[in-house]
Amino acid sequence: MIQITFNIHIDESQVPDSPLFDEFELAQMLDYTKAQIVQFLQTRLGGLRCPTHDEAARVRVDGVYHADSEQLDFQYHLDTCCQIFLMQAIAMLNRGSEM
Ligand SMILES: [Zn+2]
Repeated sequence: MIQITFNIHIDESQVPDSPLFDEFELAQMLDYTKAQIVQFLQTRLGGLRCPTHDEAARVRVDGVYHADSEQLDFQYHLDTCCQIFLMQAIAMLNRGSEM
């Protein structure tokens, strides 16, 4: 298991004060999306440890949810013990194309 932190902001600036915008639904949707991201990261990186330092990678997910378009833009930031392991982790993360 790797350590994953989320740093997601909600951009509500474009949202009119509408009863259609349901904060509870949004929270549920974000939770669901986070769970999918966690599953993806654990699958890709969960078993990966630095061959030199025996440390797991840590991942920070920075994202912005645009309430008007209902799109979540996010990026992974990998934090590793050394550059070599960082390269390995990035290669592992980019393998395949789903997500
Ligand atoms: Zn290392």
